[in-house]
Amino acid sequence: MAENPLRNLPGIDTLLSHNTAVLLVQSYGHDLTVQALRVALADIRTQLRSDGGAVPTNSTLIENAHGILESWVAPTLRRVINATGIIVHTNLGRAPLSDQAVEAVQVVAGGYATLEFDLTSGKRGSRSSHVEALLQRVTGAEAALVVNNNAAAVLLALTTLASQDGHNEVILSRGQLVEIGGGFRMPDVMEQSGARLVEIGATNRTHLADYESAIHEETVLILHVHRSNFTMVGFTGEPSVAELAELSHNHKLLLIDDIGSGALLDTSIYGLAPEPMVQASLADGSDLVLFSGDKLVGGPQAGILIGRAKVITRLRNHPLYRALRPDKLCLAALGATLTHYLKGDALEKIPVWQMISQSLSDLQERAGRYAEALTAAGFSCSVVMGHSAVGGGSLPGETLPTWPIQIEVPSAERALEVLRSQPIPVIARIANDKLMLDPRTILARDEEHLFTSLVNLHHEMRG
Ligand SMILES: *Cc1c(COP(=O)(O)O)cnc(C)c1O
Repeated sequence: MAENPLRNLPGIDTLLSHNTAVLLVQSYGHDLTVQALRVALADIRTQLRSDGGAVPTNSTLIENAHGILESWVAPTLRRVINATGIIVHTNLGRAPLSDQAVEAVQVVAGGYATLEFDLTSGKRGSRSSHVEALLQRVTGAEAALVVNNNAAAVLLALTTLASQDGHNEVILSRGQLVEIGGGFRMPDVMEQSGARLVEIGATNRTHLADYESAIHEETVLILHVHRSNFTMVGFTGEPSVAELAELSHNHKLLLIDDIGSGALLDTSIYGLAPEPMVQASLADGSDLVLFSGDKLVGGPQAGILIGRAKVITRLRNHPLYRALRPDKLCLAALGATLTHYLKGDALEKIPVWQMISQSLSDLQERAGRYAEALTAAGFSCSVVMGHSAVGGGSLPGETLPTWPIQIEVPSAERALEVLRSQPIPVIARIANDKLMLDPRTILARDEEHLFTSLVNLHHEMRG
């Protein structure tokens, strides 16, 4: 009978005494190195059992363990280059921060900060004070509060406000019973909050009279939700926020407006459909306006609630707020982002707005430069007319004209794969079997890396 090769595998201690293993222990620590060696041995055992073959050398086993260790410590949350043309790309982390916001995060990240400390009195301060005043100035709201994301904002608002003296009915039009994505559905959140949903109207049309006749003693508020990720066309209609505000206030009810993206600037100036604006919703009479920090605000992930001071105070005092409150990194980034709106330099400084407001001639100039570099690298490519999207559940179906570069490659699918495997992965699109890069979402600081990756792609595709 042939000798069992598994018996010839070295023990952990033998491997650990090897010079290269000593180096691994120095970098990764003893325990983690031992775990990796065990996995490397187990892999080889499996391989020997199924395919047979020779027992690898100790060096090979240690090398395998090194690979395993590298994969364990490598971050999976990595920076990528967004060449898709989708500006608020949810899967790619939504809004890139402005330089000033990044710096603000850096300033507080590595040390202590005045998160809940008042420097004047030396006593406890308020976490939300850091952005409240900014939000008041920028939006004109009486008060503001920030939580982790807009889903949390909706949950906090409904949980707090939809239980008033034992009454808990919330009126919502059937046309606004939306799913935002990631399983976030309005009726489910409503249930979670303890509110009782009163659906009114039809999918395509809801009248003011539908709201009026649904109001009775149990009603506590009217909820208005922006259809941020789909559009309805044709025979549609619903009352305006101003009409709903008047109705609510006549019946001593609150009006909450979940506007989703939170445009603080007017999107229609840039050839897009008008996205509901934060300031307009307040002016129309909403008691509370909810929106995300990382969609059209262009800041960090956050949920922003602004509106009447009495209402905001109730939210801040609810125990749920403690579970949903933002951390210092978020507040630092949001503060710096809001400062851009206050100073009037949001268009120049906030990447999302830079991208939205980029002129066609700038885009064409950039695309031309890329095309030149690509041609020099040996590609056959052309600059064509195309469309960028705002994305991130904002302005569905709305696009901005752009000048993408179309690159001829033997296999567009394979090209996407190669670009994803680069040191700084590039995420691109395919159009007409060609590789397509939209300059609109490519950050200036990413251009060098992008070119290096494209040169790599060219070598790979030829080889
Ligand atoms: C995006 C969105 C939400 C969820 O916001 P997150 O910040 O992603 O939690 C809620 N409501 C509307 C209308 C939205 O567009």
